[in-house]
Amino acid sequence: MRKCEVAVLGLGLMGGAALGALLDAGVDALGFDPIGPGSDRGSSHGSCRIFRRFNFENPNYTSLSDEAHAGWIRLQSESGQTILTEAPVLEAGRPGSAMVASSRAAAIAKGRPDPMLTAAQANREFPAFSLPDDWDVVVQDGGAILHTGVVMTLMRARARDRVIPERASFTPHHDGVSIRTDTEEFFAERAILALGPWLGRALPQLAALLKVTRQAVGWFAPSSPESVSLGRLPIFILDRGPDDTVYGFPDFEQRGVKAAPHNHGPVVGPDDWGPQASDGELRPIGEALAALVPGAAGPIIDRDVCLYTNTAPADRRPDAGEEFIIDRWPESRLIVCSACSGHGAKFAPAIGQRLARLATDPSYQAEPFFQLSRYSRFA
Ligand SMILES: Cc1cc2nc3c(=O)[nH]c(=O)nc-3n(C[C@H](O)[C@H](O)[C@H](O)COP(=O)(O)OP(=O)(O)OC[C@H]3O[C@@H](n4cnc5c(N)ncnc54)[C@H](O)[C@@H]3O)c2cc1C
Repeated sequence: MRKCEVAVLGLGLMGGAALGALLDAGVDALGFDPIGPGSDRGSSHGSCRIFRRFNFENPNYTSLSDEAHAGWIRLQSESGQTILTEAPVLEAGRPGSAMVASSRAAAIAKGRPDPMLTAAQANREFPAFSLPDDWDVVVQDGGAILHTGVVMTLMRARARDRVIPERASFTPHHDGVSIRTDTEEFFAERAILALGPWLGRALPQLAALLKVTRQAVGWFAPSSPESVSLGRLPIFILDRGPDDTVYGFPDFEQRGVKAAPHNHGPVVGPDDWGPQASDGELRPIGEALAALVPGAAGPIIDRDVCLYTNTAPADRRPDAGEEFIIDRWPESRLIVCSACSGHGAKFAPAIGQRLARLATDPSYQAEPFFQLSRYSRFA
C-alpha cells in the first residue's frame, strides 16, 4: 500500500491548485482524477473563464481576487505561458441594478476611480453594444480572460508522476484516510475532496446543501467581426432582470463570441453532461445579444455544456447563498472544497493555498464565510 501525507481527490482547478501548492511546499502529496486536461467533463473544462478583480457577489471576494491574481501572474512568469489576457469588464443592467451597484462599490472601496459610464458613452466606446439609454453601466479595469485550458495543462504537467489518473474512493479512519482506485490502495494522513459537482455524491450529508445545474454555452458568429475582437469588445455581464444575466467574451480565439446565461439552468446530477446545448437553450442568449450586443449576434457556431454547483444559503448568519465551502470535514481528516459555482475559477490559486494549509497547518482556518459552521447542522 502506497502512503502519502496528503491525497487530493479531484484535479479540476481547485484540486489542481491545491496539489500544486502542496508540492511547492515539499509535502508528499498525490492527486487522483480519472479525467485530464482537454476533457469535455468537469466544471473546469474549456478554454477560458472571466477574471474579475471587483466582485459584485460579495466584497469578501476582492482580497481573494487580489491574492489569486498574484498566483496567476506567478504561474504565468514561471511557465512563460499566457494565463491572463487583460480585458476590461463591462457590467450593465436595468436602472438600479444591484449587480452594477455592487461592482461599482467594490472598485471605489479599493480606491479605483469611479467606473460608472453612461450607456451612451459605453455604446460609443464599444460599438458592438446597443445598451438602452437608461441602463446603469460600469467598466472595471483589472479584468482578464483567464486561459483555463492552459492552466489545467500546466497544473497537470507540473505535478508529473504525483498524479494517479484514476477515479478514487475513500474511507476515513481516526488516523488517516484509505484511498482505493481500481488498481491500487493508498493511505493518506489527510485527504482533500475537491470533487466539483461530484462532492455531494461523495459526502451525502452535504448533498442537500449543494445544487448542481446544467449550464448551456454558445459561440456566436458575430455580425460585425471588427467590433468584437479583443481590444474592441470588453468582457461583458448584462443584468436583464431577476434570473436573467448573460455574459460573454470578445472573440479572442477566432471561434466567435462565447456567451452564456449566468442564471441557473435545470438541476441535474454530476454525471449529466449530455446532451449537447440545444438551439432552444441558447435562443435566449442569441436574443439578448441581438438586443444588447448586436455586433456579437449571429448564428450559433459552437456549443458546450458545463455544470455549476452552488451552495444553499447559510442559516446561522446572513448569507445570500452560493458562498464557497473551504473547510475541514467534522471529526475526520478530510478537507472539503466546493468552489464550483459560476465564479470560482478565477480564485483557484488562492483557494488551493487555503486547502493546502487546511491539510498541513492544524492552527489554520479559512475565513468564517467559507466555513461549514454557517449551517446549523455543522455548528
Ligand atoms: C459554464 C461555466 C462558466 C463559468 N464561468 C466562470 C467564470 O467566468 N469565471 C470564474 O471565475 N468561474 C467560472 N465558472 C466556475 C468555475 O469554472 C468553477 O468554479 C471551477 O471550474 C470549479 O472547479 P472544481 O475543481 O471545483 O471542479 P471540477 O473542475 O469539476 O473538478 C472536479 C474533479 O473531480 C474529479 N472527480 C470526480 N469524482 C472523482 C473521484 N471519485 N476520484 C477522483 N476524481 C474525481 C472530476 O473528474 C473533476 O475533474 C464557470 C463554470 C461553468 C460551469
